[in-house]
Amino acid sequence: MNVISSLGRVGNTVFQYAVEQSAVAVTITDEQARVLYVNPAFTRITGYRADEVIGRNQSLLSYKRTPRDVYAQMWQALLTGQPWSGRLLNRRKDGTPYVAELTVTPVSAPDDASEGRYYLGLHRDVTEEHRQAQVLANHKHLIESVIAVAPMAIALINSQGEVVLDNPAYQRVVSELGMAEPAHAVMTALRDDMGEAFTHAMAHRRPLHNREVRFERTGGEPCWFSCSLAWFEEHSTAPDGFYGAASSDYTLLMMHDITAARRQQEALRLAMLREHLSESEFNQALRETLGGAIFQLQGPVNLISVAAALQRRRSGPAAADSDPLLKALDDARQAGQQAIEALYAAMPPERMGTLGRVNLNEVLHDVLMLETRTLLSAGVTVDWQPAHVLPAVQGDPAALRTLFRQLLLNAIEAMNVRGWAERNVRVGTQASAERVEVDITDSGPGIPEALRRKVFEPFFSTKRTHRGARGMGLSVVQEVVSRHRGVLEIDPQHRDGCRIVVSFPVARVAAEYLEEAE
Ligand code: FAD
Repeated sequence: MNVISSLGRVGNTVFQYAVEQSAVAVTITDEQARVLYVNPAFTRITGYRADEVIGRNQSLLSYKRTPRDVYAQMWQALLTGQPWSGRLLNRRKDGTPYVAELTVTPVSAPDDASEGRYYLGLHRDVTEEHRQAQVLANHKHLIESVIAVAPMAIALINSQGEVVLDNPAYQRVVSELGMAEPAHAVMTALRDDMGEAFTHAMAHRRPLHNREVRFERTGGEPCWFSCSLAWFEEHSTAPDGFYGAASSDYTLLMMHDITAARRQQEALRLAMLREHLSESEFNQALRETLGGAIFQLQGPVNLISVAAALQRRRSGPAAADSDPLLKALDDARQAGQQAIEALYAAMPPERMGTLGRVNLNEVLHDVLMLETRTLLSAGVTVDWQPAHVLPAVQGDPAALRTLFRQLLLNAIEAMNVRGWAERNVRVGTQASAERVEVDITDSGPGIPEALRRKVFEPFFSTKRTHRGARGMGLSVVQEVVSRHRGVLEIDPQHRDGCRIVVSFPVARVAAEYLEEAE
């Protein structure tokens, strides 16, 4: 049973109407592509009535811009009995061009007496589809060009954390930092730095703007990037995603190199730090000297107080007022107490720094820069091993600078003795999820086990007189460490020198950030 007979008695008529009423332009031509039949949709698309095209070649629709080889391929297929599909540039009757999507099928009609070949042409006006595809392609091209020439490094990260697309600026960062995937380091730095706030931003696809990330380069100058994150959802192109919500999430990371500007700021800041350093050093020395004098004075005053108390008990309450020795002791105690108060009053106040989020790499880099001259004159080489990126700690940068400067000066002094050949100090940082750790290791004589506790006591010193060492250095260090909820340890396992490890809790971004990001 053929198709038309399956339609029953009226099969031919139904078939004819189906073709006539089809929304697709239908043409039937002879072997020379001369039109034998066109349906009304053909007239609607081309503007030609059937009587205007019957007997004429289909080429009357050509806009004469379609490349010759397109026609050559079309005819090559048709002449071997194969159908052909493609797009041609056609001209309507009114001269306007349109893009036609054409399928031509050779049709042989064996029961036709002429036994000739016919062609069935089906075509649609796809001008709008073509326009939209072009707009999209232009958009894509524009975006690709902008990304390619953009001065900022751009990386697209998939939900598995892999970088699936990047630009030349990103590749430059890769080679400058000598890191396989700086995007991973940025994401880790942001996660460590922001904690909960980062997880929140990721979960709710909140964009992050201009978050500064500092990268350390082993043995080199640091560099800074202002990093932004945006999220985008790619809809599935697979057919099963046509009506579904299948999609993939991507993170777009943009890294803007702000090193030049930050270096200028840093140079200015260092110059100011140097200027203020001598003043604060003087004040610190004065505080230590006065502190020493108070300490020295406090002992005798305490003794006099004890002696006065004994004498008072001995002479009894009635005779206390008339006892000349007691009076002399009281006068001496009072004079001593006044002297102590006067010394306290003369002590320059300790500058209370402002608390904030501090990057210890920055603090240590400052200290190394500030003490370059001291290091050089003592012939000490520095092995600076910072973590590439470090989460912030909460603290007073000036106090933390004093702390690490003191540890560095101690290390230099320990090695700066006549005949000491090994003069290296390694300064390293590393971060775990909860803590930032600084480790300062020198190749000096080390601290004997018996003295490891004692060195933290005020006024204890293994040296006589030298710069900054009045026995207050490590006690100041300990005070700053405790104030910052830190832990300081002299590594008991370390041989051939002294290794001091100081660690502080990571400072998370305050909860207000969450509201800010909402
Ligand atoms: P032509 O000189 O007509 O042809 C170019 C090349 O095509 C020639 O060099 C030759 O190798 C080959 N060729 C042409 N006619 C034949 C043939 N009868 N047998 C073997 N090879 C041949 N063209 C359009 O531009 N728009 C249309 O919408 C369109 N619809 C068509 C629908 C059907 C059913 C068929 C069969 C053809 C259709 N064509 C259409 C093709 C059209 O017939 C022309 O081939 C084409 O327009 C190029 O015309 P031309 O005058 O520039 O060159």
